[in-house]
Amino acid sequence: MSAPTQWPGGRSFAATVSFDFDAEELWIAENPANADSPGVLSQGAYGPRVGVPLILEVLRKHGITATFFVPGKDALRHPDAVRAILAAGHEVAHHGHSHTSPTRLTAEEERAELTDGLAALRGLGAEVSGYRSPSWDFSPHTLDMLEEAGLSYSSNLLDHIVPYAHTAHDLVEIPVSWILDDAPHFWFANDTWEKTIRSPREVLDVWLPEIDGIATLGGHVMLTFHPFLTGRPSRLAFLDSVLTHLTELGGWVAPANAIAAHTRAHGPLGLDAGALGAHAGTHTGSEHTRG
Ligand code: ZN
Repeated sequence: MSAPTQWPGGRSFAATVSFDFDAEELWIAENPANADSPGVLSQGAYGPRVGVPLILEVLRKHGITATFFVPGKDALRHPDAVRAILAAGHEVAHHGHSHTSPTRLTAEEERAELTDGLAALRGLGAEVSGYRSPSWDFSPHTLDMLEEAGLSYSSNLLDHIVPYAHTAHDLVEIPVSWILDDAPHFWFANDTWEKTIRSPREVLDVWLPEIDGIATLGGHVMLTFHPFLTGRPSRLAFLDSVLTHLTELGGWVAPANAIAAHTRAHGPLGLDAGALGAHAGTHTGSEHTRG
């Protein structure tokens, strides 16, 4: 069986460049006492202050429209950064109001997070149609609430490499992965000293074969970046290399709202499993699987 996947313009695969804006709320949600620790919070402030403007320039260079998942409280704290994202034509979507996992909230609290976050983003002019949970996880109420709020898609689960429709809710799922998230590779934290800093070259060695593999299968590459991490100068060069690679592969690079709309219009997409055999030995990852 081959090639049930259909991406616009006859492209063989699709990709989304996404950013989790995070900023100070990431640290405040981890520990409310951090609200009074300027040094801790300054790690998050680097994102909107320095990272976002530099990232917008890299995206502009490549002509790529991205999706930024923004906590509402961070949007209110950094409205100019959010306005700059919107002015450059990028999508802004929901990432909690505070950066609190829905699994830690009562139903009432979760509803308030959803409503307040939407109000904050819409107040800055965003047309919000998608949701990414701060923990890539749901409470028993999350999908009901997203549907009730009229949102179109969720980008949270790790169970596929093509977008699909949720069975019991009118929502498209656009899956994520740890492997193509910058945080497990780049996020150092001085509270436990357990998280390490990898070189951009090492992470390219991890990312490019994964991107090639998804592209070969005709799937959807969801890249997840954080401005406080990838906004560092050495990693802006990493971002530039990844985007150059995506462009050279010739995929359809589109924001998450466009991926969701395409999935709605064309139904469930499949994978071109036959292409793996045809391409065996031609991409970096194949040598390892033949051991
Ligand atoms: Zn986040």
